[in-house]
Amino acid sequence: MVTKGSCMCSQVGYEFTSEPATTALCHCTDCQKWTGGPYTANVVVPRKNFTVTKGTPKTYDAIGASGKVNKHFFCGNCGSSLYTELEIMPDVACVKSGCLDGGAKDHDIKVEFYTKDRLGYAKEIPGAEQLTHFG
Ligand SMILES: [Zn+2]
Ligand SMILES: [Zn+2]
Repeated sequence: MVTKGSCMCSQVGYEFTSEPATTALCHCTDCQKWTGGPYTANVVVPRKNFTVTKGTPKTYDAIGASGKVNKHFFCGNCGSSLYTELEIMPDVACVKSGCLDGGAKDHDIKVEFYTKDRLGYAKEIPGAEQLTHFG
């Protein structure tokens, strides 16, 4: 199975070749800032199965609450938030599902991170593990 994604202007494209290891919402304030939205929806895939197939994303290193680097990959032309690689999770890429081609899929979300920062209108997903912080 190959899943493809791309930025809004199509200068950057990527694909991954496995089912998600997990699917997660992150409500942290860094995710809010980066996307301009209430949370990020993440498809977490093994890095070995993830490749950028077109263009070169820009990166921005944010320091997470862990003190470790959260590397953000985005399109330098249109600004789309594409994926993150967290130093504390070295084997996976956290693909932001809004940039999947064909639109974000209605994934069954397994876990929600940083629920302490969740906005009131973003209701808890029944059955999803609820973590006040990360990990
Ligand atoms: Zn772009
Ligand atoms: Zn976050």
